[in-house]
This record gives sequence, C-alpha cells and structure tokens, in this order.
Amino acid sequence: MSDISRRTLLAGSTAAVGSLSVAPSFIEGFFSSAMAQASGVNKYKVGTIDVAGIQDGVNTIALPDRYVTNQPKEEVVKALKAAGLDGEKLSIPFNPVAFKNGNRIVLIDTGMGPAANAQNPAVGNTVKNLTAAGYDPAKVTDVVISHFHGDHINGLLNGANPTYPNAQVWVPAVEWKYWTDEGEASRAPDGRKPAFANVKRIFADGLKNKVTQYQHGKEVVPGLMAMATIGHTPGHTSYVLSSGRDKVFIQSDVTNIPALFVTNPGWHVSFDQDAKQAEETRRKTYDMVAKEKMRVQGFHFPFPSLGRIEKTQTGYRLTKA
Ligand SMILES: [Zn+2]
Repeated sequence: MSDISRRTLLAGSTAAVGSLSVAPSFIEGFFSSAMAQASGVNKYKVGTIDVAGIQDGVNTIALPDRYVTNQPKEEVVKALKAAGLDGEKLSIPFNPVAFKNGNRIVLIDTGMGPAANAQNPAVGNTVKNLTAAGYDPAKVTDVVISHFHGDHINGLLNGANPTYPNAQVWVPAVEWKYWTDEGEASRAPDGRKPAFANVKRIFADGLKNKVTQYQHGKEVVPGLMAMATIGHTPGHTSYVLSSGRDKVFIQSDVTNIPALFVTNPGWHVSFDQDAKQAEETRRKTYDMVAKEKMRVQGFHFPFPSLGRIEKTQTGYRLTKA
C-alpha cells in the first residue's frame, strides 16, 4: 500500500481527478467538525492502529506584510475573509499526532514546547493533551521529527531535560545533515540563523544520545513510512501510516494554513525555504492524496487537523475526513 503511494508520489502523478461536484465547503466541512472536538484530542483508527490528533495550540498574530511572499497583502486578506476568517489577524494552529501500534507509542512532532506555554498558554499544550488522550509521556517509545523548525522540535525539551525521557528521537538524515553543517549555518541568510542556533540548542547534551537518523523511502517505526516532501526545508518529511489496507497521509508542512495554501497551491508561505520546490512538492503530493482519496493529517490544519483533499479548478479544497 504505502509502496504504491510512494511510487505514485515520486512519479508525480498529475492524473486529473475532476472532482468538481458539489462538496461541503471548506468552512462548513471543516469548522463544524472542529467545534465538535473541543477537547484537544481527536482519536481515530487506521486499521488496528490507535491514532490521536493532538492539539498543541493556536498562535494568533497580526497578519504579517509578507506572510505570502508572492502575493500582495490585499489578496491574502481577501482569501482569509473568503474562508470566514479574520482578515487582519492570522491564527496558525499546531497539531502533532500520536499513535499506538503494538508496544510502540509514537509521537510525530512536538509542538511549541513548555517554555512557549509559560509565555502563552494558547500554545505548547502537547503534553497536556497527549496525557488526556491516554498516552503517558514517560511511556512514549519513539518521537519522530518531520523537520527542524521550532514549532516541530521545541517540545522535545522541558527546560534542559527531555520531555519524553524514555523515547528514541528519530530525525530525517537529510535534515540533520543540513542543520548541523557549520558551513550551511555561516552561509545562511540572517533571517535563518536563529533557526540554526535553535537546532543546536535543542539537540545539545540532553538529547544527543537519543537521536537516530532515518532515511526517506523507508519505515521509521512499524507502519510508518517516511516520504521525502522537500522544499519547505531541505529534509522535510511526510509519512504514510498504514495498517492492512487502511492508511492516513501525515503531511507535516506540505502546506501551511489551508485557507491560504490549499486553496492556492501556487502561493508561497514565507517559511518555505525553497519556495519553487515546495510548490512542486505540494502539487505532486496533493494530486496523489486527492486521487487516492486518502485521509490527510495536517500539522497546520485547524483542529481536529484531519481531512481529505479534493482537486478544484484552481487548486484544492480541504473537506471533512
Ligand atoms: Zn510548521
């Protein structure tokens, strides 16, 4: 199953899906189900695997001038309003995902972390909601990291100590190579230098001996296939979690918030390191998940952060799972 998906993704299938029939709108489909899930935990099954979408939180900021680098701000405001959102403010959700498969308890990405939570209780709630989902942080066996931006790795540490003291930490080999390369760090534009420093801080002594690198195109832990979806960062990773014939696509940051970037796959979020490659990846990935009608778990989708992608005439649309 995941092999087929992988081949399809790598081949960059552009098969027309043509699902232009009337579907529930993004707003109705997504936010009504979001309201039904107030607890910060969204449990579902993939075959025999127990999965839980975990809400880390939502950061609300004034809309930056250049959040979308290749569109005027007015167009961004228009798109936010068209999705029923505030045009002046931007709310960015953060949603890791956890699953239990046999004796493994796995967390994918870690959210903003306890230090951010102390500053702003609206973010950094992964431990709280993971516990509410019935997963003891001390019993997490594996933490799998998709890429090295702070909203994905900062939750690895609680002060100087590992938040998940008994977990092996899995990182993409390509991502590790890039962010730990002193040459890359020194050549990086000023805007990216803090991210290099943050990676150094997170993976310092407290975690060093727990880290194992993984390869794209291989299983990281049983049931979880790592797929290269590069562009957002040099080693950015998505996953197919599968059990029997059932599966879910865990996209990580293939798109940032759907109201802007699922609707308009050609729009470039300022966090995409190689914007052209990120767009190419986004279109290939979404053509595949739309064609296969897969459920998609999105780190920056509004909670419950699970939906399906449909192709439209101008882009894609996120609908209910
Ligand atoms: Zn992110």
